[in-house]
Amino acid sequence: MGWNAMAYADPFEIVDPRFRAYAIPIAGLETLHTGMRWAEGPVYFADMRCLIWSDIPNNRLMRWCEETGAVSVFRADSNFANGNARDPQGRLVTCEHRTRRVTRTEPDGTITVLADSYRGKRLNSPNDVVVKSDGTVWFTDPTYGISADYEGGKATSELDGRYVFRLDPRDGTLTVVADDFVQPNGLAFSPDESRLYIADSGWIGVGEGPRHIRAFEVRADNTLAGGAVVTQVSPHAPDGFRVDGDGNIWSSAGDGVHCYTPSGDLIGKILVPERVGNVAFGGPARNRLFICGHTSLYAVFLNTRGAVRP
Ligand code: MG
Repeated sequence: MGWNAMAYADPFEIVDPRFRAYAIPIAGLETLHTGMRWAEGPVYFADMRCLIWSDIPNNRLMRWCEETGAVSVFRADSNFANGNARDPQGRLVTCEHRTRRVTRTEPDGTITVLADSYRGKRLNSPNDVVVKSDGTVWFTDPTYGISADYEGGKATSELDGRYVFRLDPRDGTLTVVADDFVQPNGLAFSPDESRLYIADSGWIGVGEGPRHIRAFEVRADNTLAGGAVVTQVSPHAPDGFRVDGDGNIWSSAGDGVHCYTPSGDLIGKILVPERVGNVAFGGPARNRLFICGHTSLYAVFLNTRGAVRP
């Protein structure tokens, strides 16, 4: 498929006039690749002009080259990788379902295990990850990767909860920062890292329960406070999301990508022809939103920039 194959033009739904500042009506939704089973975990590499993302049930990491539009398998047998991020040194950090761990890919290609257990018990199946500017690795650990072989490997949970963790890679300390989620999922910091947003997608597969995004205050010692719900997300439920430089939350949803203000007002949507699992800002100006739909990778240019430099 061509690199600029257009799904359809003007995919923007203006819910609130504030969204007009971000939407570019002449910028269409482009389909960059298709043929995945469940796309997730997009992360942009400005230095290599590429996007890496996961195709979870196909057990592989994919790579899209910005220069040529070529798509290739970045890593076969990815241990059913899900969420991806980069650390301040630019290294790829990956959540793996089957091996129930978070790993880091070193510059020489070797893989370092950052976390695979908590107090002697295996993690459930790390789902999504974000790295703070101080190098700490924050990730969610719901049970999706051990609930069926399709997304990893069916297994029994060893932990007594589905936690959100903070890992300090300097000494390997793993700390629970939130323990009251049904299924913690996507997470992202506000531009100044004073807030951490975390999605609870407990509704998925059950048809009831939370499908919202909560906001926590990040204290100076990297503990969390608060945790009020800032917005519900429907149709379907929130999975992964990212924050732009103005603090807006760009979240996956059943009908595409929703844009919420920092206080949780839905101001607009990017309509996508299938359910969305995650998004990432990228491109040299960080003004292009890469969208992992169910089977396809999409992209759209926005009049805003991702908060985090990839
Ligand atoms: Mg997720």
